Amino acid sequence: MTTQNCILIGAPVDCGKRRTGCLMGPDAYRTAGLVAALEDLGHSVEDRGNLSPNPFTAPSHPKLHAPAETIAWTEALAEAAAAALPDGLPIFLGGDHALSLGTVAGAMQHAATSGRPLFVLWLDAHSDFHTPDSTDSGNLHGTPLGYVTGRPGFEGFPVIENALPHENVAIIGLRSVDPQERDALQETRIQRVDMREIDENGIARPLGRFLDRVAAAGGMLHVSLDVDFLDPSVAPAVGTTVPGGATVREAHLVMEMLHDSGLMTSLDLVELNPFLDERGRTAQVMVDLAASALGRRVFDRPTRAY
Ligand code: MG
Ligand code: MG
Repeated sequence: MTTQNCILIGAPVDCGKRRTGCLMGPDAYRTAGLVAALEDLGHSVEDRGNLSPNPFTAPSHPKLHAPAETIAWTEALAEAAAAALPDGLPIFLGGDHALSLGTVAGAMQHAATSGRPLFVLWLDAHSDFHTPDSTDSGNLHGTPLGYVTGRPGFEGFPVIENALPHENVAIIGLRSVDPQERDALQETRIQRVDMREIDENGIARPLGRFLDRVAAAGGMLHVSLDVDFLDPSVAPAVGTTVPGGATVREAHLVMEMLHDSGLMTSLDLVELNPFLDERGRTAQVMVDLAASALGRRVFDRPTRAY
């Protein structure tokens, strides 16, 4: 198995929604043994500690929650992502999903510099395709895919020079999409896989189709894993539980296929709220999934197409 230099970057972002607690996420992953799990697989692990947002002042906003802080985090995380990618495989320890405004933007910069296309796999109950104008809640953790694909309304955020093409995005696990997001998504070529499709066809086929496209394009692949991709019965530590999510087995299959593909170049672990956890079980599941994505398995299997 190829070993990698895994770069852990703590991103205690807690401003993407109103319920707090995700700022404890990075340390929960460390406590749950992430470093040892990766080292046991033969990888080297470099923990760069926790980031802070760039300096900001926080005027209130009539609708959006903490836009200035989110912008400040976006700047810091885009820089950190672009700086880490040449050195190895960054794993961003969230923090809520607002952190991905920055990590994906940074991965896009790095991919552009490398002359390769970037693809994004979004494992989430939600599509996170809102804009600051379309969101009713004002919670910016629901906007990162809107931002990186170049939707309008992100005043004050770092400018996205070359928007991520819709066909380079797949969202798997969908079961809670606002009407405005659904209308907007239906006009795009974003690959959308909801739980019904997973129930009917399994999770391997749609994922395999996407990975085939990434491989054919010689692409880099950023993976963003939201805790609520999983069913709340196995991953309760999240503020946005939606019943009917992926099973532990489906999630491990996704992660093992990602490893088999050799395509993943960066990873977000987001929305873990340790304050809502039960004796650390959600943090542990997320660490186990990260280990699967980096090569842990029960038995070796001969390499095959997905
Ligand atoms: Mg999300
Ligand atoms: Mg979600």
